[in-house]
Amino acid sequence: MTEQTAIPKAYQFKNTEERIYQFWEKQGYFQPWNDPNKEGFNPNIKPFVISIPPPNVTGELHLGHAMFVSVEDLMIRYHRMKGEPTLWVPGSDHAGIATQLQVEKALAAEGLTRSQIGREEFLRRTWAWKEKYGGIIFNQIRRLGASCDWTRTRFTLDEGLSRAVREAFVRLYEKGLIYRGPRLINWSPGLQTAVSDLEVEYTQQPGTLYYFKYMLVPENEEQQGEFIPVATTRPETILGDTAVAVHPQDERYQRFIGRKAIVPILGRVIPVIADEYVDREFGSGALKITPAHDQNDYEIGLRHGLEMIPVLDETAHINQNGGPYQGQDRFEARINIWKDMQAAGLTIKEEPYMMNIPRSQRGGEIVEPMISTQWFVKIKPLADAALKAVADGRIRIIPERFTKIYFNWLENIQDWCISRQLWWGHRIPVWYCNQCGKLTVSRTDPTECEHCHSTNIYQDPDVLDTWFSSGLWPFSTLGWPDDTPDYRYFYPTTVLETGYDILFFWVARMIMAGLEFTGKPPFEIVYLHGLIRDEHGRKMSKTTGNVIDPLQVMDEYGTDALRFTLLVGSTPGNDTNLSVKKVEANRNFANKIWNAGRFVISSLAQAPTQPIQPPQWTLADSWIWARMQATIREVERLFQNYQFGEAGRQIYDFFWSEFADWYIEIAKIQIQKGGDQAFYTAKTLVNILDLCLRLLHPFTPFVTEELWGHLKKAAMSHSSAFEPIHGWPEALIIAPWPTPRPSEDWEEEKVSQFSLIQEIIRAIRNLRSEKGIPLGTKIGATLVSSQNYGLLTEQMSIIAHLANLDNRKLELITAISDKPQGKIPLVVGEVEIFIDLSTAVDHRQELERLNRELGEITQQIERLNNLLASEFSRKAPPAIVEKERQKLADFMMAADKIKKQINELEKG
Ligand SMILES: [Zn+2]
Repeated sequence: MTEQTAIPKAYQFKNTEERIYQFWEKQGYFQPWNDPNKEGFNPNIKPFVISIPPPNVTGELHLGHAMFVSVEDLMIRYHRMKGEPTLWVPGSDHAGIATQLQVEKALAAEGLTRSQIGREEFLRRTWAWKEKYGGIIFNQIRRLGASCDWTRTRFTLDEGLSRAVREAFVRLYEKGLIYRGPRLINWSPGLQTAVSDLEVEYTQQPGTLYYFKYMLVPENEEQQGEFIPVATTRPETILGDTAVAVHPQDERYQRFIGRKAIVPILGRVIPVIADEYVDREFGSGALKITPAHDQNDYEIGLRHGLEMIPVLDETAHINQNGGPYQGQDRFEARINIWKDMQAAGLTIKEEPYMMNIPRSQRGGEIVEPMISTQWFVKIKPLADAALKAVADGRIRIIPERFTKIYFNWLENIQDWCISRQLWWGHRIPVWYCNQCGKLTVSRTDPTECEHCHSTNIYQDPDVLDTWFSSGLWPFSTLGWPDDTPDYRYFYPTTVLETGYDILFFWVARMIMAGLEFTGKPPFEIVYLHGLIRDEHGRKMSKTTGNVIDPLQVMDEYGTDALRFTLLVGSTPGNDTNLSVKKVEANRNFANKIWNAGRFVISSLAQAPTQPIQPPQWTLADSWIWARMQATIREVERLFQNYQFGEAGRQIYDFFWSEFADWYIEIAKIQIQKGGDQAFYTAKTLVNILDLCLRLLHPFTPFVTEELWGHLKKAAMSHSSAFEPIHGWPEALIIAPWPTPRPSEDWEEEKVSQFSLIQEIIRAIRNLRSEKGIPLGTKIGATLVSSQNYGLLTEQMSIIAHLANLDNRKLELITAISDKPQGKIPLVVGEVEIFIDLSTAVDHRQELERLNRELGEITQQIERLNNLLASEFSRKAPPAIVEKERQKLADFMMAADKIKKQINELEKG
């Protein structure tokens, strides 16, 4: 026997998590063991690679981060334990608008604006801001246990990635896939820039639907006063109307097709056109068309070759095309034009209308669709290639139902506006010549025009959409456009994991860019997780006040509890409802693991270091081993199918309901027998716990690593005979993943035998609880079985112990002629059980009496407590109050006495 290894009584995640994380990182476990930059590299071993969805450099940890980190870390740890070289590339996104706003806010506090300090100084300050705050999000991601290779951390604006962006832009330009021109885009009047669709949020808001008359130009006397009724939510856009559209089959308006209409107030004459896009049920069934300020109208305008007349300037004020309203703010003009139309008798009615308002995600103001001269990517050829890569199976999307959505989006894709009127970002590598007016597009900063060699050139002031650089992420982070060892070995990556909400904005763009620039799909699998909602399924938002802060939750319940909750509560692509209660329950699971571990370690002290006889496995030993193997097989199958949540639930159930609740209880009896029995029981305990900790490690890395360390130390110092089947490697994080073995013939038989024993014990326990027999009270039983007589004889001591049967009143027989009198019969398969409650009932009656008495006394205590807390204690004579106080004290003493008696009876 060796001395007991000290293991703390309770799992203290606070003292553990940071220490363990530092240990892993210091040992270099986060770096791939097969590294193309190091000696002994073997290029023939396939690595497992994930690039992190780069969080914004301005980011602060929210549950969305916690979710993707948990899922990706789980995959990385699983593959690492399977022995594959794994690489998880971390990094952050420069987040153009978000970061620029942070710095502008700081400037405003000093009473400055960015135009006052100029571009160069502004960028200097923004880099300084990034140096100071940009690492916060990484530290928060570390707290989640993320096993990223931090030595390979990238930033979308770092030197290498900036070069990748240049290369991509120039290549697309040279191929004719990038052009500059006027098109309809989302304009943020507050931020003074084009914004991407992703940066626009739609809110429901009550508004007004304005009905008015579109007067027609009469071609004869009879047509005097003819008009088409039209409805709009934005009357100020009437100023930019260039057509009225009706449905070609609409009998109300068919006869007007081809006629001319008159723009209210301005008097401009525009055509009446037919287009099937028009919804005959909506409003009046006719549409005003403003191609310069509405996405759908823009499409119609292109189809019909309509004039596009912008009426808003960049600050959303009416421009020179707006006649008398020029210079007015858009909302002011809305009121004024309507007033003037009322006066002119052109209005019909107004009705309340629920509008879907597009707002800038950052600035909050209403975004205007506007025609603007910007840089665009001609997306169709790229989209076609991206469609094909998924259609032919080179990329698989999980869950599969998102494939259809992906196809649908790519089939209807519009050219992508990539220029932003910001300073923080990748500046567009285009120089304009003041001499000849031509463009120079270059990978390196030119000093002269490539056409006329004039040095009188200037660079485009705009920067690129952030998604342009994050679209290159899987390969730019590995060194592209250079043919680096990392790029050669780790690209294409294996899995891209992210929320389904950015399938288009990011995932589709990476696929397009990967195929275009590297000729390969950037990953094999797209795994999409759902969004996290509150416990009632509502979206989490600051206004609702139901946001859960992952940092707070980790402080209170530990990282493992949060990770396990997120992982086990989710299925691919489905939203998850999260409550803190669930996290608390999983904190209890971490404690359960710890307590089971403490028992296993303590059992070693009671086991000899070597057996004398060859193994004599008990039924329970064989059963838990068979169930362990079945669980390993099932978990492996689920992992292969990306059903991580279900895998977690299976391990949880096995650990809690089978290992802890059944096997450990039986092991306690077996260990007490000492000798070989204790040795083999301890060996089983060590093996099963070791396997469970390995399976649980990707879900709950901290508690498993810590406990496994204690287990290893205790077992190794006790005897080499306790080495588990996969050995004792340096640390759990790199311990081999349990290999699933094919099921063996004996397994099914042992499982079914043990199930019978479990059912017998459960049946007796249920009866006990129905009859209110205290846990500690022993009861008598007669078991009758012919077929399982041998099995039950062997297992009688286990049944007696776990069902708390009285050995003196216990018998096992093969047959019974008469049903025994006064006993309660139970049937479990072919086994009959007759329970003798005679002694227990005396107990029970006594317990019932005591409980009744306690109930009465408790009522008295309450009554007196209320009385003494009321006016009475101040108003009544002190002697009387004192008397009541004395009564209360007496009752409380009596209650204590009865409680003690109840306790003793319940213990039996
Ligand atoms: Zn020139």
